This record gives sequence, C-alpha cells and structure tokens, in this order.
Amino acid sequence: MVQTGLSYDDVLIIPQYSNIKSRKEVDLTSNLDNLRSLSLPIIAAPMDTVCEAKMAIDMYSLGGLGVIHRYNTIEQQTDMFVTVKSLKSDAIVAIPATGDYMERALSLYEVGCSMFCIDVAHGHTEYVKRAIKNMRSKFSSNIHIMAGNIATAEATIDLTEWGADSVRVGIGGGSACTTRIVTGHGVPNFSAIAACAGADTGISLIADGGIRNSGDAVKAIAAGADLVMLGSVLAGTDSSPGTPFRDKKTGKMCKKFRGMASSGAQEDWRGSASVEEGVSHMVPYKGRLFDNVLKGFKEGMQSGLSYSGCRRIHEFQHKCSFIVQTSAGATESSPHVVSRGNHA
Ligand code: IMP
Repeated sequence: MVQTGLSYDDVLIIPQYSNIKSRKEVDLTSNLDNLRSLSLPIIAAPMDTVCEAKMAIDMYSLGGLGVIHRYNTIEQQTDMFVTVKSLKSDAIVAIPATGDYMERALSLYEVGCSMFCIDVAHGHTEYVKRAIKNMRSKFSSNIHIMAGNIATAEATIDLTEWGADSVRVGIGGGSACTTRIVTGHGVPNFSAIAACAGADTGISLIADGGIRNSGDAVKAIAAGADLVMLGSVLAGTDSSPGTPFRDKKTGKMCKKFRGMASSGAQEDWRGSASVEEGVSHMVPYKGRLFDNVLKGFKEGMQSGLSYSGCRRIHEFQHKCSFIVQTSAGATESSPHVVSRGNHA
C-alpha cells in the first residue's frame, strides 16, 4: 500500500476556544529527557555554518541549546566545548557513529560534556546501534544520547531499545538537503513526526529539517515533537560561524549556509567529496539572534498554542486537531494581496 505523506504546508491546526489573555501566559518549557528541560524548545543544528561555541552559548542563555558540529578535529571541538563551559554554559556535542567517535566522545566527556548527539543522516542502522551500546557501557548512566536521523515508528522503537534518550526526526526535508532527489528516500516532515510520536516510546522527539517559521514549529510540536531543531533559520545571525559579506548581485549582506553533505563541506572536512546530498547557499545577514530571529519565533509559538486555548505543550499535544488543506488553501494561507492585475 502506498501511504500519503504530509508536510507542514499540507496541514493547519483548527482554532479552539481560548481564555488566554496574553501569549505571555503560554509556557513553552519542554523535556529533553527526565533530567533536562528547556524553557525555549529550540536546538541549533550541528552544521558548520550554524553552531559552534558562540551559537551554543547564546542558545543556552535564551533557554534553548546548541549542538556543536563535528566537522573539525577532536582538539578543535573539545576547545569549543571548553569555551562554552568556562562561561558556565552547556551544549550538546555531535559525534559520528564510526571512525573516531569514541575517542572524540572520551575527549569531550573528560572536559565535562554530558550530552552527545550521534549525528548520522540515516540513524536506523547497525552502526548507530553499536555506537549507542558502546557509549552506554563506557559512560555514566546520566549522560544524554541523542541519535538519528529517523522517520518511522519502527526506528523510534529500535533506537529507544538501543538506549537513545532522544531522536532527531526528519529525513530529506532540510533546507540545504538533496537526499530525496539523490536517493529517492524520505518522509514528509509532518508525517514523519506523527509516525514517530505514534510509537509512543517515551523518549523526546526533535523535529529536524524544513522548519521555516514559528507556524511550522507549532505544527511540528502539535504532531508530537517535544523540541524543534533549526538550521537555516539560525544561520546568518551574529551568533552563527562565519563573516557577513556583500552579495555582488543584490548588494545585500549575506552569510554562508551549507548542507554538511554538500561537496564543499565534504571537501573541507574530509578532503574529498563522495555522493553529494546537500547544497551550498547564501542566507541574508540577520544580525542579532534573539532580537531579529528568536524573539519573533518564540512569540509566534506562544501565540500558536493560544489559538488552541493551551498554556502548555503537553496540553496542546492532547487537545489540538488538524485539517488537511488543498493547494488553494495553501495559497490562501500565505500573503496574497490582490494586485491591480488580478482585478482586471
Ligand atoms: P533546516 O533547519 O531546514 O536548515 O535543516 C537543518 C537540518 O538539515 C540539519 O539538522 C540536518 O538534519 C539536515 N542537514 C544538514 N546538512 C544536510 C545535508 O547536506 N544533506 C541533508 N540534510 C542535511
């Protein structure tokens, strides 16, 4: 049987009676695991144009978290984590599932790291199973292991059994991703989250890839995600790595943003590129992370819960209901000011 897969633009959340007077009454706190919660349920993606020490520090100070990417030497990544810890901040660190992953994890564990992200494009694999099991036997039981990426209920059940505390949900939907074009595989993001949430294993789900605005984040949480992960939305800010430059064509200030499986990224971190599953972009320079990006994002999410009459994420996930929209509905859902031409 061929299933239907829905993405964020295919659905809307139906408004419900609300007695919430101000969006400030809405508390977005969500759990990463039984020991750790975030007051801002947003995590910066482990990409070299999104999250190094500065992004991790700034995200932590705002109530979220960052995942320091792994496309560097063990020394460089350890130094970044130490910078975060010397400022009394915390971060998740990304590690691969093969190669130097254990040496990398040990180096970071020794300087106080307790949250790891096994960062693999296809997380429902034997490699990830082995990596989680080895990490569980080596480190204390209260470390956090995030794993992924996955897109099915079966993968959620398996990764939970293997010992993951949280999973990144989303295959092929990232803004710089060409996985679905190159491999023909993937699940539209809204359906992927709903499928993983349906497994109901109790671990946290992180909606990863394709979130463009607060409305998408609200839909991801409504579908069952505990937290959302952002790449391109956070790229281009003062907190992301890299220097702003002027685009010759438009004259506007930009920053670099690229998929970690793009040929340029692969060449930079491993010297050569194999199968390319990502692209390199410019994103507009956005300036301050909170003032220009996350403030509006957070307030939009708070407003989102209030439209369903909910003050907390768990209440929202139980109460919300969806409607699938047609392409005409999706057109109507975006700004469509009637122009002179349309009147004629
Ligand atoms: P975004 O928020 O839509 O930009 O998606 C960010 C997510 O895209 C990351 O967290 C990764 O899961 C995914 N990603 C990053 N680089 C690549 C790539 O080169 N190919 C496929 N997916 C990628």
